[in-house]
Amino acid sequence: MDKRSTNKAGKSGIILVLTVIALWIGQRFSFSEDPTIINNPPPQGVIKVHFIDVGQGDSILIENGEAAMLIDAGENSQGEVVVNYINSLDIEDLDYVIGTHPHSDHIGGLDDVILQVPVEKIIFPDVVHTTKTFEDVLDAIESKNLKITKAIPGDEYTLGEAEFTIVAPNSIKYDELNNYSVGIHLQFGDSSFLFIGDAEELSEEEILEAGHDISADVFKLSHHGSSTSNSSKFLDQVNPTYAVITVGEGNSYGHPHSITMQAMQDRNIKVYRTDKQGTIVFTSDGSNISVNTKAYSITEGDLAGKN
Ligand SMILES: [Zn+2]
Repeated sequence: MDKRSTNKAGKSGIILVLTVIALWIGQRFSFSEDPTIINNPPPQGVIKVHFIDVGQGDSILIENGEAAMLIDAGENSQGEVVVNYINSLDIEDLDYVIGTHPHSDHIGGLDDVILQVPVEKIIFPDVVHTTKTFEDVLDAIESKNLKITKAIPGDEYTLGEAEFTIVAPNSIKYDELNNYSVGIHLQFGDSSFLFIGDAEELSEEEILEAGHDISADVFKLSHHGSSTSNSSKFLDQVNPTYAVITVGEGNSYGHPHSITMQAMQDRNIKVYRTDKQGTIVFTSDGSNISVNTKAYSITEGDLAGKN
């Protein structure tokens, strides 16, 4: 064997050993489990967010698999509408019921829901209101032996494979009941939703100051599209693709206000309205969002109001 062939044999041996090592490493890597992937698998199934048409008022039902949550239930007269809607989806119980603030167009129907649908947890802002509507809700809560969990900004909750964070209210005392509105930022995979009840500009400022993550694909416009909410600064930060206006046909407040509609048009935000389109349902698989109806076309009349 000459020197050359010895070298050749040595080289082949080294190559063989390296190949075996490479294959062994390759196998170990391909079969090893990346902990970051294990901890954050892409969500299974879909999340559905239903903006139920309850006329002038809010009622939002969110479901992911067996998990479900209700934010508000419209006026007193809408309680049965909301209960029937929940039943029509074969939802057996609600993991969370959130009353954003004690105005009747938000909590009016909640007593019917609490009395007729099993509820795990009730979240309210830390404020009382001396109305029969509010007392009826407290009575319903008491009769079911439930306790109220106070909404505390920064608190995080799990809803199936989704998560939500409380982003408001950020102060203890307000002059205006609307500003006690519980704010919720919901995340499902890469899809996000923001609900802030009827929070006015003051609360919006506080949410921005607190630095909560409020960027959202879908934003339920605050206070039925009022110009006293939905400030430019806030909209800049939320930066939604879709906006939902929960509002009653021909309501006496002039909601949604023209300033808000103009802001939607200027920003190319797709608008959906319960007064014009009925119940609006968003579905997301964690990356793609679809809606049960086409976006609303903003009219000259929408932009012509004084507010
Ligand atoms: Zn309201």
